[in-house]
Amino acid sequence: MDKIISLCKRRGFIFPGSEIYGGLSNSWDFGPLGVEMKNNIKHAWWKFFVYNNKNIVGIDSSIVINPKVWEASGHKDGFSDPLVECRECHHRFRADHLIGDDAWSKEKDFFDNASEEEKEKKIVELIDKCPSCGRKKTMTAPRNFNLMLKTYLGPIEDKNDLAYLRPETAQGIFINFKNITTTSRQSIPFGIAQVGKAFRNEITPGNYIFRTREFEQMEIEYFIKPPKQDSEWEDIFEGWRKSMLGWIEYLGIDLAKIHELDVPKEDLAHYSKKTIDFEYHFPFGVKELYGLAYRTDFDLKNHEQFSQKNLKYRDPVTGEEYWPHVIEPTFGLDRTLLAVLAECYKEEDTPEGDDRVVMAFPKWLAPVKVAILPLLKNNEEITKKSLEIYNNLKGSLSCEYDESGTIGRRYRRQDEIGTPFAITVDFESLENDDVTVRDRDTMKQERIKIKDLKEYLKYD
Ligand code: ATP
Repeated sequence: MDKIISLCKRRGFIFPGSEIYGGLSNSWDFGPLGVEMKNNIKHAWWKFFVYNNKNIVGIDSSIVINPKVWEASGHKDGFSDPLVECRECHHRFRADHLIGDDAWSKEKDFFDNASEEEKEKKIVELIDKCPSCGRKKTMTAPRNFNLMLKTYLGPIEDKNDLAYLRPETAQGIFINFKNITTTSRQSIPFGIAQVGKAFRNEITPGNYIFRTREFEQMEIEYFIKPPKQDSEWEDIFEGWRKSMLGWIEYLGIDLAKIHELDVPKEDLAHYSKKTIDFEYHFPFGVKELYGLAYRTDFDLKNHEQFSQKNLKYRDPVTGEEYWPHVIEPTFGLDRTLLAVLAECYKEEDTPEGDDRVVMAFPKWLAPVKVAILPLLKNNEEITKKSLEIYNNLKGSLSCEYDESGTIGRRYRRQDEIGTPFAITVDFESLENDDVTVRDRDTMKQERIKIKDLKEYLKYD
């Protein structure tokens, strides 16, 4: 992981946040290459799920929405993690992380119902030693810590002006359900997709960009007819499970490194009847990458109750009215990028006998598609021709022009940032109007006529 973090900083993928002010813990800024990759992922995701399905449409809702939304969704009361604190060093931890998810599930009922005294006694049996300072029997009883980030709207910090930064993009979709059914000519079954920022006041952020307080989600709420029997929603759920795996494969991730966790009943979120977590073998452990949940009719029903607005769907043929049920595939953008970085990082020996680091990104994902490298920096004719090629390609492909250092060093740099093609312009190019194109993965070089370059570099 350290090697990836260092490469990402050195080459301009990801920088520590607020660095010149000493940083802000676990916040990260995305540099020129990081932002290219995030955009590539977002556009490809949109194409994969929205453009390829005629019954999925998009939305971009606000980040700060009426706080009543979070009462209706259950986030105000229920979106919390169990927080414990060491009395000696005051480090805070998630009890479920320290005890382990399975063990915590078994104890959860106890902690929800026991007295303070009983909880204090039990917690030190479960967590004997503080992982930070090593002192024994110092943990406080767990308390539920709400993860929503608060803010105030307007000039007065009064409780009536309290608002929250959205902890998920899903609710912005539910509250626009009526707007979309009346304007988009979609009928059940159909889905609404959204990509955008979400915020969570995580107790223990960490593992680089895996768990941060500010991150991006790509979510779809897929509305279906209330099932008469389980097989009806199960079939649709299975269809989504396969599509999600298809997307993971498209990212170039080896499916052997994906573990599907059927979330046990006692761990399901309050709205869910079934959830599968798609876990990836990250360098620091097997952890959740994406989720797929059957949310029943929980959301629309509650929003109708809290808003007093009719959110039922009316079948255009039968006139039947009902609250649609929802299947939700959810994807973290930052975790996608992290999984791709981990999957594609390779250290290799070259035939010349030295090593190279290569980011073997799928071509569509690479932040730079082509590097244009004049053989010599101080030959006017070569640099002129190189710039002509650069100017001709840059409108259709993300290109980099690099004339500094030896060709070998320039190739290594492009390998490290995962550029699939490197074009070298040399003396022969001046005579024959052709260039050398080097393939990142095979390192093979081929002479290609300049006029054929666009066609040759096509990667879709
Ligand atoms: P976790 O169990 O890891 O906290 P979660 O089950 O709470 O995740 P969801 O509420 O299902 O996560 O959110 C959907 C997706 O958003 C996750 O699968 C993940 O990809 C992403 N995500 C959630 N929390 C974070 C975070 N703090 N930082 C980065 N990505 C996140």
